[in-house]
Amino acid sequence: MPSLRILVVEDEAIVAKDIQNRLKHMGYDVPSVAHTGEDAIRYAGETLPDLILMDIRLKGQMDGIEAAERIHDRWDIPVIYLTAYSDEKTLERAKATTPGAYLSKPFEDRDLRIAIEITQYRCQMEKRLKASEEKFRTIFKNANDGILYLDERGTILDANDKIGAIFGYRKEEAVGKHFAIPRTFSAPKQAELSALYQKAVSDGFARLASLDGVHTDGHPICVEASCQVIERENGERGAILVVRDITERRRAETALRESEEKYRTVVNNNPDTVWIGEQGKGIAFISPSAQAIHGYTPEELLLNGARIWLESIHPDDRQKAKNALEALEEKGVFFAIEHRFKKKDGQWVWLYARAVNAFEKDGKRFFYGLTSDITDRKRAEEETARVKAMEEADRLKTALLASVSHELRTPLTAIKGLASTLVQADVEWPPETQKEFLEVINKESDILVHLVNDLLDMSQLETRTLRLEKTKCRISSIINQLADKLKGITREHQLEIDVALDLPPIYADEVRIGQVIINLVQNAASYSEKGTRIRLEGQRANRDIMVSVTDQGIGIPSQYLGKVFERFYRLESGVARRRGGSGLGLAISKEIINFHEGAIMAESEEGKGSRFSFTLPIGEDAECLENIKPTLSDKKPRI
Ligand code: ADP
Repeated sequence: MPSLRILVVEDEAIVAKDIQNRLKHMGYDVPSVAHTGEDAIRYAGETLPDLILMDIRLKGQMDGIEAAERIHDRWDIPVIYLTAYSDEKTLERAKATTPGAYLSKPFEDRDLRIAIEITQYRCQMEKRLKASEEKFRTIFKNANDGILYLDERGTILDANDKIGAIFGYRKEEAVGKHFAIPRTFSAPKQAELSALYQKAVSDGFARLASLDGVHTDGHPICVEASCQVIERENGERGAILVVRDITERRRAETALRESEEKYRTVVNNNPDTVWIGEQGKGIAFISPSAQAIHGYTPEELLLNGARIWLESIHPDDRQKAKNALEALEEKGVFFAIEHRFKKKDGQWVWLYARAVNAFEKDGKRFFYGLTSDITDRKRAEEETARVKAMEEADRLKTALLASVSHELRTPLTAIKGLASTLVQADVEWPPETQKEFLEVINKESDILVHLVNDLLDMSQLETRTLRLEKTKCRISSIINQLADKLKGITREHQLEIDVALDLPPIYADEVRIGQVIINLVQNAASYSEKGTRIRLEGQRANRDIMVSVTDQGIGIPSQYLGKVFERFYRLESGVARRRGGSGLGLAISKEIINFHEGAIMAESEEGKGSRFSFTLPIGEDAECLENIKPTLSDKKPRI
């Protein structure tokens, strides 16, 4: 620690020198010695010593007290007076300058040291006190809270500006009044404040979480108050009351509570289940209606929601639900799916589940969605669809009856006409005419047989009594066997057959597959101009054999393309009418292919032509069968 720097002011040079020496001996630093009051002021300003030893009596205009006063005014340097004798008046004057100490000459080194150290100590204490007061003042002035300084009876001694802002009165109006100001607080609130004060008096500290009052401009305010009992400078008890304005906070809290209540009412009374799921974790929240919709309590679903959901979903809908859930979890893709669900009591319902939004909270990702019971709607839809289907079937059957009667009557009329002509007793027809008539009768009978066969097939398919004779066979051999028939059908067209020889065998009913091929080629011929090309192809398509028939005919408008496989469906075009037919051919073909676990499809462009294809799965042991050399009938058919 650097030694204390002391300025000695003494007009007697010898005395001054002596004091200087004694001080130095004691370890103090004496940078200068002044002999007059004026010098003292000057040196004090120049060297800013820590302490001044000031002789009261000085030669010249100014005595030590005046010099000390001036120095005190400007630099606040503590002073110890030195004097040999002094009258009462001088002492009074000296006292008024609050000196650190007062030493009578002559003095011992010990007294001098004690005086210096006490002064030094007091000076430091004063500085600290000042600093702490300054700190308190700053806090008091700038605090965000209102602060009241109260005496023992609760009278306001001081208040900061914030108090004015909170309650609306000026600090001057508040000082001198009791802190529970009637204008601000109603009688019960004043009582609460008094109780707070009493509690603080007994416990030292007390707090009130919220207290309602009224601002001077009339608006309601709410404050939080805490009271700390202190001892005042005069030794009496006092208190510091800190008041925090929580009006805004309370308003926000109330608004939040109200909005939460509203939200809860909406969620809890919503007939749909509202749920929140945490990514990778499961259900985080589910509304009470879950109980009615799923049959499980919200608690059960919270614990095991995703598992219960997937396990209770109808097997046919499960994959769809799994995919939706995965896409949501992994890619954040929202979903909306309808699925069947088995409630806890075993009852099946239709649910409409959808994930509609996502949000982040505390670094976690959540999704929320709704689930509704749509069983009633679904039942109504199913009922409507069933009624519609029945109506449609009814309509089709009526149409069929009309159509069948018509189709039956046309050939029958011809047969009947020709037959009765032939049996007329009085006419002897030349043999060639008879043959001609019989040929027509034969052809018309064929049409009748074909129609009746179609009807029989259809009724067998409908009653599921059609029997398939499946054998291991090759598509090329089926086509080979049909060669004559195909040739007949496409007499007026150019038929091209392209069937790969190395196609693996299939398990199929050769006759029925042949029937499908004939039907497709027959249609191709019926709905295209003479001389146009008809292509029959057979090839491998992955694990299937695909057969297709392509024509260059009238085609099918795209809006009807899906309908051609329906029973009794016939395009209302002139060509279709002219050609006759039951509208059953493709429906029968489709059923036959379905029975073989294959698929049939149509592509067409109106005016350009159509392409009908069907696939048949390759037999299980096809790979080893493939190596078998084709037999004679497996040869590429040539017509
Ligand atoms: P139909 O006995 O009337 O031929 P199908 O079931 O075989 O009955 O065919 C249903 C309808 O599909 C036909 O009436 C016709 O309008 C249409 N159709 C079928 N094949 C073709 C084709 N190759 N080109 C154009 N239209 C076709």
